[in-house]
Amino acid sequence: MANSKVGGPEIERLIQLLSKLPGLGPRSARRAALHLIKKKDQLLVPLAEAMGVAVDKIGVCTTCGTVDTSDPCAICSDPRRDQTMLVVVEDVADLWALERAAALNARYHVLGGNLSPLDGIGPDDLNIAGLIERCHGGDISEVILAINATVEGQTTAHYITDQLAGLDVSVTRLAHGVPVGGELDYLDEGTLTQALKARTRF
Ligand SMILES: [Zn+2]
Repeated sequence: MANSKVGGPEIERLIQLLSKLPGLGPRSARRAALHLIKKKDQLLVPLAEAMGVAVDKIGVCTTCGTVDTSDPCAICSDPRRDQTMLVVVEDVADLWALERAAALNARYHVLGGNLSPLDGIGPDDLNIAGLIERCHGGDISEVILAINATVEGQTTAHYITDQLAGLDVSVTRLAHGVPVGGELDYLDEGTLTQALKARTRF
């Protein structure tokens, strides 16, 4: 397919960079770029400024691994958070999802991925050592593995559980089952089996 240029090199560069964002292909990147250019004062200038600030201020929390403008992050330094509970997630996006649900007042630990021997991702590539170290501190009594229900996620969960054996920490994981609003007919057999196994009294 011909990839003809639509503007000067600056516009091309903008489109090319936008097309690298998740969910944006070349066509939607062109639309987004044109939208930004048309809304220069309302959108393009503030966006460029916000990005400049983000580059200067945003970093990774050396305690939990999330992204924030302070280190330790706002969650780690919040004294109202339960200090005995750690929720382990694969990615910052998962932490954000759990915070949106506001179901727990715990602190987190971001692994930065899952173990995947086939992709060459081992324990040293993830923030697992930091998790073990935090659990050795003595304050943590429960580690909740909020890790994806994939083969890699379960491999990671087993590895972490093994590493924490011997410590006075109970390791729990999220229930697997029927999603809220879900219809049984649409569920795969694995989910249905897990939901039946994890059934609770009505
Ligand atoms: Zn933190």
